[in-house]
Amino acid sequence: MRHHERLKPPPHDYVADEWNWIERRFHPEFLAQTETILALGNGYLGMRGSPEEGGPLAQFGTYVNGFHESWPIVYGEDAFGFARTGQTMVSVTDAKIIKLFVDDEPFWLATANLLRFDRRLNMRAGTLDREVLWETPAGKQVHIKSRRLISFEHRHAGAISYEVTLLNARAPVVISSEVLAERRSTPRGSGDPRRSKAFSGRVLQPRASHASERRLVLCHGTERSGMLLACGVDHHLESECQHAWKTAHTEDFGQVAFTIAAEPGRPIRLTKFMAHHSTATASPEQLCARVDWTLNRIAAEGFDALAAGQQRYMDEFWRRSDVQVQNVRTGKVQRTTAEVQQAIRFNLFHILQACARAENVGVPAKGLTGNAYEGQYFWDTEIYVLPFLIYTAPRLARNQLLFRYRMLGKARERAQELNHKGALFPWRTITGEEASANYVAGTAQYHINADVMYALRKYVNATGDEEFLRQYGAEMLIETARFWYDIGFFSERKGGRFCINGVTGPDEYTTVVNNNTYTNLMARENLRYAAQTIEALRDENPHTLAALAHKTAFDLAEVEDWKRAAERMFIPYDEQSGIYLQDESFLDRERWDFENTPADKYPLLLYYHPLNIYRHQVIKQADVILAMFLLGHEFTLEEKRNNFLFYAPLTTGDSSLSSCVEAVIAAEIGEHERATEYAMAALLMDLGDVSGNVHDGCHVASMGGTWMVMVYGFGGMRDSDGMLSFRPRAAPEGQSTIRFPLTYRGRLLEVEVGVHETRYALREGDQIAFRHIDEVIELTRGDPVATRPNVK
Ligand code: BGC
Repeated sequence: MRHHERLKPPPHDYVADEWNWIERRFHPEFLAQTETILALGNGYLGMRGSPEEGGPLAQFGTYVNGFHESWPIVYGEDAFGFARTGQTMVSVTDAKIIKLFVDDEPFWLATANLLRFDRRLNMRAGTLDREVLWETPAGKQVHIKSRRLISFEHRHAGAISYEVTLLNARAPVVISSEVLAERRSTPRGSGDPRRSKAFSGRVLQPRASHASERRLVLCHGTERSGMLLACGVDHHLESECQHAWKTAHTEDFGQVAFTIAAEPGRPIRLTKFMAHHSTATASPEQLCARVDWTLNRIAAEGFDALAAGQQRYMDEFWRRSDVQVQNVRTGKVQRTTAEVQQAIRFNLFHILQACARAENVGVPAKGLTGNAYEGQYFWDTEIYVLPFLIYTAPRLARNQLLFRYRMLGKARERAQELNHKGALFPWRTITGEEASANYVAGTAQYHINADVMYALRKYVNATGDEEFLRQYGAEMLIETARFWYDIGFFSERKGGRFCINGVTGPDEYTTVVNNNTYTNLMARENLRYAAQTIEALRDENPHTLAALAHKTAFDLAEVEDWKRAAERMFIPYDEQSGIYLQDESFLDRERWDFENTPADKYPLLLYYHPLNIYRHQVIKQADVILAMFLLGHEFTLEEKRNNFLFYAPLTTGDSSLSSCVEAVIAAEIGEHERATEYAMAALLMDLGDVSGNVHDGCHVASMGGTWMVMVYGFGGMRDSDGMLSFRPRAAPEGQSTIRFPLTYRGRLLEVEVGVHETRYALREGDQIAFRHIDEVIELTRGDPVATRPNVK
């Protein structure tokens, strides 16, 4: 593993706390990182954690999921079927700015004399809280306390409570609450393809604006994608001090300035209500009206009611999702239990922030904490994030699968464009159209089709939602199975085995290869699940199948083809070494010279031409190792061990999608120390800035991966063969325990993995059956079970 910690915050300023990420001193050098870490969002709306005052600021960052500008992809050398239209999520109107002036002196964190500073991501309440004691140059002490939230209950809404109290003197105070549509876009860092495109001109074009009383509404549109965004704010000021206000606006800027004769000891409390709406169809007037409706509603509720709603939502979230640890040993890394607990919650909280209200939209690779990867959706959602959602909030998982289903039309068109049958989901997208301009490491990752179907199966197994399978899943299964059958072939040279050539597996450092083990195994699973689903429909729901056959021009004979292809699927394996080849020619390549590659030349993609990388045995991210996790029942323990020991040293960890998967397999094969090391890299991916780019946003896939590490890795849960089972891993030394809840077919199961035994308790539902090691346990509510020893 080649990881470097970049963000090294002095521990006394960043106190470990199980429920909060706390910053006790303002550190301008970590501005960009803390903007990401302290970002708030609800899956629809996201705001980076910049201070209320509008700065100091590293990146503008208010995002509405799916709100993007498109642009023509220009290739120096074009080819048929290349993706044509780029899609980039753009930063929208910033509603959160509140500037403060005391004696006309602006409060600005970078220069202020701060007697006290405390900023915290409050993961229990779902808020960003700040408390500051500022001494003005004239010696006046000003206490400023704020709380910001983006509502989980009200998809389009956010609010800030901003309270100012002069402690030792009276002073004229101005609080200027503003909205600003930024004219510039954040520039892409030189040479880093992961960062977002910069537009040369302004992206947000003014369409409408109005102001009345203490309310401001600005509406902007994009030129090429034809989207509209309206943002509005409203205010409520409470104070015993004398005050007045004035509203002003232009098409890009609005301001409500409160002037107050502040008296010592008398708080001034401003509440700012914020609303964002976007559309691809409505008019600016209609959209502004929606903003008004939201503002009317939330302003009538008031801040305390919004915060109480947020708290209720968070309580329920933690009840269904919290992973608790005790007496943790982290090996060489030396972290306290509080730090580990904090990191776990931080990851889970940010997944929630990326997904909760992502309705009719996907989950961007960075959530809404930054627009690296253009705010686009990848396989990250299905393979890394959905497991967590499926087992804690199945409705949110369903939303994501439904969103994929809605892309099916475009996926069919894309397959047709590439002369394939069936459907091909885009490797990366916002609109459903392929947006990858790098076909070798992008479009060629056909495994996306199988990944989506894998998640579908997991969802249906864990929820029993057969209705979803019939209504949406079956159609996707038909089109993806058709696709595999079409692009593969029975190769004579391989004794009639079914081969899939010219694809890229998950490892983007080895591209356009023949018979990538991961792809072939996942495609096989896809074909089998399709056949099984269609046969069940044939037997149990012939009407549904008839309608589906009509819609997709499907013939039952196709199922026989799929079964044959699955049965004859070629999986490249080297008998002599017992290694599953990542692809057919993997062993023929020269090993990368890791010994002479300096640490500062990682990630390799930033320092070597792709051809240098592609011709070597060097792996960006788990590929065979991932297959061994997702389809664990296809491998013996011995094979897992051999293959892990072979592939792990070749895996750079240049992608954040690796460590979590490596941790799970390391735990399974009994490599406890390495499992812990990988687990810590995954857990601290963002808080410890392991990849060195947290400034551009959180790594949402890895965050989902941390849940997998705890539940699949240390909890030893497996579900790939259709039955829930556990082979908990006892910690080799120490007294660690892990406790987590799981939602399974409408029940709530609580699992506590202790040092010597595992306890299971059913909290909701009447009974549940699962396997613990080799024994089937039937559990009823009110009758917890403590089991015999865990796996060593
Ligand atoms: C990884 C992909 C991933 C993407 C977005 C890339 O670096 O190689 O697997 O989907 O990041 O997270």
